Amino acid sequence: MKIYISADIEGVTGIAHWDEAEKSKSDYQKFAKQMTNEVKAACEGAINVGADEIWIKDAHDSGRNIIAVDLPEIIRLIRGWSNHPYKMVQELDESFDALLMIGYHSFGGSSSNPLSHTISSSTFNYIKLNGEFASEFLICSYIAAMVDVPVVLVSGDEGICKEANTLNQNIKTIAVNKGVGNSVISIHPQLAIKQIKEGIESILKEDINKCKIKLPHHFKVELSYTNHWRAYKASFYPGMKQLSSTNVEFETNNYFEVLRMLLFK
Ligand SMILES: [Zn+2]
Repeated sequence: MKIYISADIEGVTGIAHWDEAEKSKSDYQKFAKQMTNEVKAACEGAINVGADEIWIKDAHDSGRNIIAVDLPEIIRLIRGWSNHPYKMVQELDESFDALLMIGYHSFGGSSSNPLSHTISSSTFNYIKLNGEFASEFLICSYIAAMVDVPVVLVSGDEGICKEANTLNQNIKTIAVNKGVGNSVISIHPQLAIKQIKEGIESILKEDINKCKIKLPHHFKVELSYTNHWRAYKASFYPGMKQLSSTNVEFETNNYFEVLRMLLFK
């Protein structure tokens, strides 16, 4: 069994402030360690039920957060950013049996996490896909749908877990944080690790084909920029329509074209 794990930090257990997500800040180390421990738990759970190949994308900021030496020897760890349009799920393809997302967070504009954002909080107020707020989870899930890989488990804040189960009720979700205004109410970091490990063990024993995501046939993407000049620049991308001083819209039937556009946003 070949598994792909995409890991972010803004949804790991207890995280409540940007200082805890930024490498240059002293608060960061503890959360890079927690991110590593949660990924490790997912690896161990998957190995217990037969995974013999595990690829991990370190998908936060620099792409250089996870402490590799703490992970099982069978892993392949993708660090840094290739600049391929698949970004947080770089190298995902039909050869994988399942995709897991660890440490994921609510979409830009959501009140479910003090650190909610989509792609970049400094660039975008929000991104909408077919009229709904789009999260990084949704963007990656549609990539998984494109290559026919089921999304079996998501851990992160309550908001993103709820969104995952709205998209597909069979996805195993582990809510480790509840955002309240600018605060976070979290479970114990060790309990999160236990739940992630048990969660992946139980879902991989089931028929994971029911965790496949349906890819829409048409995509209407609205980008709302924090700066009007970014929207002006984006309006020159082929097919892009300017909606207002800060918002632009892109339509296509091909999801890869959405990803290509987001690469040049
Ligand atoms: Zn991140």
